[in-house]
Parts: sequence; C-alpha cells; structure tokens
Amino acid sequence: MDAPEHPVDTCDVVVVGAGIVGAAVAARLARQGLQVAVLEAQQVAGGATGRSAGLLLTGLPGHYHWAVQSLGRETARALWELSVEGRERLMETATRLGVPVERTGSLALAVTEEEAEALRASAELLREDGFEAWFGRTDPLQRGFLAALRSPGDGVVDAADLTRALLASAPVAVHTHTEVQALEAEGAGIRVWAYRRAVRCGAVVLAAGGYAPTLEPALSRWVSPGHALRITARLDKGQNQPPLTTPCYTDYGYEYARPLPDGHLLLGAWRYLRRPSPSESSPDPDTALRGGLSRFVRRYFPTVEGNILQRQSGMVGCTPDGVPVVGVLSHLPGVYFALGLGGWGLCWAFVVAERVVEMMLEGTPPGLLDAERGQKR
Ligand SMILES: Cc1cc2nc3c(=O)[nH]c(=O)nc-3n(C[C@H](O)[C@H](O)[C@H](O)COP(=O)(O)OP(=O)(O)OC[C@H]3O[C@@H](n4cnc5c(N)ncnc54)[C@H](O)[C@@H]3O)c2cc1C
Repeated sequence: MDAPEHPVDTCDVVVVGAGIVGAAVAARLARQGLQVAVLEAQQVAGGATGRSAGLLLTGLPGHYHWAVQSLGRETARALWELSVEGRERLMETATRLGVPVERTGSLALAVTEEEAEALRASAELLREDGFEAWFGRTDPLQRGFLAALRSPGDGVVDAADLTRALLASAPVAVHTHTEVQALEAEGAGIRVWAYRRAVRCGAVVLAAGGYAPTLEPALSRWVSPGHALRITARLDKGQNQPPLTTPCYTDYGYEYARPLPDGHLLLGAWRYLRRPSPSESSPDPDTALRGGLSRFVRRYFPTVEGNILQRQSGMVGCTPDGVPVVGVLSHLPGVYFALGLGGWGLCWAFVVAERVVEMMLEGTPPGLLDAERGQKR
C-alpha cells in the first residue's frame, strides 16, 4: 500500500529534470498528445541550463580539425551538421516563443601557436565540408590572441527563459522541488519514487544532466560530471582595445567571454577529461578549472579583476568522446536517457530531445548519438 505522504499519480511519461533537454522532451511529447509530468529536484532551469552563458556554439569543443582526427571526417561532418540543425531549431523555437535570441556569430581565439594552426586547419576543413568559417592570423580584440576563426551562424540566447517558455508552451505538469530517488519496474511500466510523490507511468526519460549517475549508477558507464564556472563582471573597457561585441572562446573552447545586453560581461570556463591541449598538466579538474579561468581573466581581460559582481558554478554531464548519448537502460526497459551535453550543450538540446522521443515512440535508433556507438563503430 502507498504511504499517505506518497500520493500516487499516473501519467504516460515522466521526464526527470527541467533543464533545456527535459523541457524540449516534455514539450515534444505533450504536443503528440501524451500525458507528461516533469519532476525537477530544484526549480526549472535550476541545473546547468540556468547557469549557462547562453552561447550557441556549433560542433564540439576541441575544434573541427581535432574532431576529424579523432572521430573520422565523415562522422565529424555529420556531427557538425547535427549541431547546426540543433542550433537552427533552437533559434526558430526561441523566436516563435518570444524568447530573445541573436545571431551574433562567434570567435574562436588561439592562445598558442599549436591552437592557431588547429584553427587554420579547422577553417579549411569546415569550408571544404560546406560550413561557414573565416580564419585570420589577426586578433580582432587586440588582446594578445594569435589567430581567430569566425563562425557567423552562431549566436546567443537566454537558456533559462527558453526552458521556461518551452514548458509553458505545452500541457505539461511540472513538479519542482521533487527529487526523483528511485525507479523500479512495475508490470509493463515504471514506478518513479520521488520526494513526497510517486508516479506510475509507461516510460521515463532521464534528462538529469551531470547528476544522472547519482540517481542511476549504471549511467556512469557513459556520463561523468564535469564542472563549469562563470563570473559576471562590469564591462571591461579594455585599454585602448576595441569593445567586445561578439561572444568568443579560447583554449579549445574551455574559456569564454560574452558581452551582455545590460553592459555586463560574462566570463567562464569548464573542463572535462578528454582534452586535446598538452598545456593541461594538473590532475585535479577543479584546480585546472579555477586556474584556467583566472589565467584567462588576468591575461586577456585584466581590468575585470576587481569588478566581479557574481561567481557561479554548475555541473555538466560529460561523455568520453564529447558527443551526447541517447539510449535505454538494459536492466529497466522503459527508462530512456538523453545526457552528456557537456559545456557546449545548447546546440545539442533539441537534437537529443528529438532522438530520445523517436527512440521511445517509434523504436528509431539514435544514430550517431546512440549510447552503444562504441560497440557499433
Ligand atoms: C557555468 C556554465 C556555463 C555554460 N555555458 C554554456 C554556453 O554558453 N553554451 C552552451 O552551449 N552550453 C553551456 N553550458 C552547458 C549547458 O548549460 C548544458 O550542456 C545544458 O544546459 C545541459 O542541459 P540539461 O537539460 O541536459 O541539464 P541541466 O540543465 O543540468 O538539467 C538537469 C536537471 O535535472 C535536475 N535533476 C537532477 N537530478 C534529479 C533528480 N534525481 N530528480 C529530479 N531532478 C533532477 C537538475 O536539478 C537539473 O535542473 C554551461 C554550463 C555551465 C554550468
């Protein structure tokens, strides 16, 4: 019998996590006529999504050149195409829902000669493969960067606003402050045990980001937590340097800066295990993260020091090859997952949402995002 503090609801699908992925999955399922409940441990966009700097960066961190080397050209190209598709879908959806989104372009900036060469090679490969990319051996910010690769299609969005708007756009029951604690098979469905609530449903989608392995340890096979930091500062006027107008990232995508419409500046960094740069020597990712961010600020945005208004940190889910994962738990069929978006997750959110929904409703394999890709490639 169910304890009185655990009233039991029923629905077709429970989505665990109200970040951008959970919101995109829930809205999509609800539009198809399914009864959907979203259970969120904190508040909507309380995880990585709400901390995100909102940069819409195509592809994967590490630059295209490196993706071609490590994943093969065909796979790298197909992954870049997917992330462009995800970026465009996100931009269209934000526009439709009235969430501010802007195609600012982005700048990848080289901090070492090795990275400058990687950017040059990336631009060449990207253009050969039909993507827009412009390379120059100059520093448009005049701050000591060695080269720049401009991607004109990239942009910025407020990811938390978009998440809230997505959930409001469809008939979805959202339960905040409702941490899911356990999942168990029940007949042909699943019982979801959450804080002061239990739900019987036909299927579950785990969209719990970097926290997912805490709920379901089997997921640590694919996803490990990575950390990200962000600081908000008064706009750095630079010393006789042009103002920062375009979002930029450096050091293989691990540090970034974005001017905000209110005149402030966002600066941040993230880390995960796979890293192309030999400059990484610290074995402790947190130390590397803090060290990387302060070196970045000190060297390239020195006037920001002393003008910092806020510091925030967050957790992202990272996969060994940097590519998000979509799959189903073998010991709990009916429990699907869409995870591992890392520190460049926003352009992937709508793609992983679409893949997990198609897998669940139609049995369509998730292709390049398949969690079992290691076995299949
Ligand atoms: C500081 C920072 C800056 C970033 N900047 C960028 C950027 O500029 N561009 C970019 O593309 N990406 C950026 N990212 C990464 C991006 O935010 C993530 O890839 C993306 O938001 C992941 O979305 P998600 O929905 O998978 O996860 P999340 O947004 O983390 O959502 C997961 C949700 O699940 C909830 N949850 C977890 N466990 C449970 C449970 N047991 N029960 C119920 N709920 C649970 C969490 O509370 C959370 O709200 C940044 C991340 C951080 C932390």
